[in-house]
Amino acid sequence: MKIEELEKELTYKAKHVYETIDKEEKKFLEKVVKDYIKFLSACKTERETVEFGKELLEKEGFKEGDTKKGYFIYRDKFLACWGMGKRPITEGLRIIVSHIDTPRLDLKLHPLFEDTDLAFLKTHYYGGIKKYHWVAMPLALHGVVAKKDGRVIKIVIGEKEKDCVFTICDLLPHLARKIQAEKKLSEAIVGEKLNVLVAGIPVEDKNEKVKERIKLKFLELIYKKYGIKEEDFVSAELYLVPAGSAREVGLDRAFVGGYGQDDRSCAFTSLKAFLEVEDPEYTNLILFMDREEIGSEGNTSAKSRIFEGVVYNLIKKAGISPTADTFFSIMAQTKAISADVTAGIDPNYIEVHDKLNDAKLGFGIAVSRYTGHGGKYMANEAHAEFLAWLLKNWDENKVVYQVCSMGKVDEGGGGTVAKYFASYGMDIVDAGPPLLSMHSPFEITHKGDLYMTYKAFKTFLKV
Ligand code: MN
Ligand code: MN
Repeated sequence: MKIEELEKELTYKAKHVYETIDKEEKKFLEKVVKDYIKFLSACKTERETVEFGKELLEKEGFKEGDTKKGYFIYRDKFLACWGMGKRPITEGLRIIVSHIDTPRLDLKLHPLFEDTDLAFLKTHYYGGIKKYHWVAMPLALHGVVAKKDGRVIKIVIGEKEKDCVFTICDLLPHLARKIQAEKKLSEAIVGEKLNVLVAGIPVEDKNEKVKERIKLKFLELIYKKYGIKEEDFVSAELYLVPAGSAREVGLDRAFVGGYGQDDRSCAFTSLKAFLEVEDPEYTNLILFMDREEIGSEGNTSAKSRIFEGVVYNLIKKAGISPTADTFFSIMAQTKAISADVTAGIDPNYIEVHDKLNDAKLGFGIAVSRYTGHGGKYMANEAHAEFLAWLLKNWDENKVVYQVCSMGKVDEGGGGTVAKYFASYGMDIVDAGPPLLSMHSPFEITHKGDLYMTYKAFKTFLKV
């Protein structure tokens, strides 16, 4: 064998998505990404994502609780949908699970105050943010207010061209020397100062007895439009998120930039893939989980027993008694993808990356065999046999993938929902597009990776 042949035969070389697909497929890729950008611009909370999913499912003929093509929604923040397989459910499931919550600023229970003739809303951030990302930029208010009379009022302010937006003001550099510039990055912006500027005009009536006239004007405006009083904030879920649409990034339009791609990129691609697989071999189950970003706590999360409930019901729908025996036997034969993003190599911060092992933008869906941190703590690690099975399938279907880790060994780490699902006995591995600027208000994905994520999910659901 010549040395070039030997090299070709024995060494591994990563492939760029755009050097693998033809013109026809590139055209299709653009179509998929266009729909994705629309979705990402419209869905900025878990409730909005569930609603989007429900509408799409209904349009495709799925019905709530249906045996063959059904879905289930819990507390408007968790969505499960399924398509019964040709094989009996007792032979196992094919599951793709993603999370639809994203880092954001939640309004506090008593958020409204006036100071120096300006009105503000106090916030408490949700999930892992870098606080300096959230100042001096346009913010939109999304969420619901639950009234004592049973009404749930939906609010979205700041997304339409005519809407106002909100913002958190930052200190001018001229006065920031001691209070910010000399501090550590993590301490320069304080959580308690993430107060959102919302009003600055006093109420018209000049009655001197009313002291906080700007605050009152804000309350008057919001009462007129939504029927909300100050006390109603305690039973509200109102979030500040970056205002505006997702965009194409780069002169060659290689990337998608937008808020919430961790992990709504996986929610979108898994649902799209699922809807295109007709008559699957094994029963397909797609899950949108909530609360991943704060450790999967609460009754809509991966740590709750909601997943068990869904599978118990599927077993019953198949006409089988849902005993523990049946459940664990199904779990042992189930294969799953924990659909979540990972960090792409940022050459500007190469010191935290392992160039040989971390994911590169444009090189396809990134499979993270394990997550966790130094010493593989808190990680689920996919078994070698399961990985080989999955990758063979993707090879056969021309899916471009990269198997990777996230960052240098002692640099940090992170977790996903994979470990909670693995505890039932199923085989599961993390996979999704690599991101730049993860957990920032403007996360970056490569179109090629988004497309390959969709293609990989679709192929997985078929076998
Ligand atoms: Mn994630
Ligand atoms: Mn995350």
